[in-house]
Amino acid sequence: MRYSNDAPAVITLTSGPVNAYPEVLLGLARPVLYDYDPAFQSFYERVVDKAQTAMRLTNKPVIQQGEPVLGLEAAAASLITPADTVLNLASGVYGKGFGYWALRYTSNVLEIEVPYNEAITPEAVAEMLKAHPEISVVCACHHDTPSGTINPIAEIGALVAAHGAYLIVDAVSSFGGMDVHPEACHADIFVTGPNKCLGGAPGLTLLGVSERAWEKMKANQAAPRASMLSIVDWENAWSRDKPFPFTPSVAEINGLDAALDLYLSEGPEAVWARHDLTARAARAGLKAMGLSLWAASEEIASPTTTAVRTPEGIDEGALRQAARERYGVVFSAGRGETAGKLTRIGHMGPTAQPIYAIAALTAYAGAVNALGGAVKTGEGIDAAMAVIDAAA
Ligand SMILES: *Cc1c(COP(=O)(O)O)cnc(C)c1O
Repeated sequence: MRYSNDAPAVITLTSGPVNAYPEVLLGLARPVLYDYDPAFQSFYERVVDKAQTAMRLTNKPVIQQGEPVLGLEAAAASLITPADTVLNLASGVYGKGFGYWALRYTSNVLEIEVPYNEAITPEAVAEMLKAHPEISVVCACHHDTPSGTINPIAEIGALVAAHGAYLIVDAVSSFGGMDVHPEACHADIFVTGPNKCLGGAPGLTLLGVSERAWEKMKANQAAPRASMLSIVDWENAWSRDKPFPFTPSVAEINGLDAALDLYLSEGPEAVWARHDLTARAARAGLKAMGLSLWAASEEIASPTTTAVRTPEGIDEGALRQAARERYGVVFSAGRGETAGKLTRIGHMGPTAQPIYAIAALTAYAGAVNALGGAVKTGEGIDAAMAVIDAAA
């Protein structure tokens, strides 16, 4: 049997966008209200309140009307000025990419770059801050998704706060799947979105903004205004009594509302626990099959994505194609520097369920073996089941 590329995959195990929860799909199907209908204005305010609760913020988050790259680009454009010295932390493709955005707004960009299967250490950040007291903005990607690795953002954030610099955090693919929140990691701008661990659709950015970041952005005359890229224009958009700068993505807000309801009613700790368990089962299974994790150590392996190193002699694209054709399972490829070297198994939102680790292992091993590999599928399944059953 062969699954057609023209039909949707049977199981989507990607690292985002993910298949949205059924409740989100129902949310997306709600009536599209006029944005100045008072019913929509008060609904928007309630959605912002739910996002504030989920993000554990003491002030109102901003919803930007585009998928999270908008928020990342906007953070660079709004916060960074030519007078700033930026320290960019690059442990993967997204972290590296942020440095190029930073360079648009200041020529003073320093960088710590580590191999893309490693994480940034707090020691390296401390050393750099000490050597360069002029550093005024630090940019970090918490979970560099194309590597499936996690940076120690709480420790890094504490160092940056002690230094007095501003911190921009890309938490797009970690927030909602593990314990990471803007204020706990001292982020001044914390960027995330609905389309990864919250199990929503791509189309919005959620931003946590500290009070001092608001002050800095508002004082920056070059910060985007009257622009899709603007953050400052949206400062008061949460309020039912204030106008929107332009039309919000009404249907996406409906979907986000459903995603936040699910997250808050299940309970964040329970949601993180099933992400963690699914990832641990996947890692145990891969190792038992004799395969290698991409991450240099398991301590830095993400609970929301497992990156597995492509076995010697196997073509990564052909591997994903075989998994798709034979089993109807779709995985994510690497990106940029990691493309062709690894496959990513997503555990995000609805697929952060341990049984999907079994499906992933089966499809991955089956694909490797279809291409001439000799992976012991059963041993991997047994090892993953042992992890799952130990948590029962
Ligand atoms: C998904 C993701 C983004 C958003 O970018 P996409 O265009 O959706 O890929 C940004 N940062 C990280 C770390 C992500 O995983």
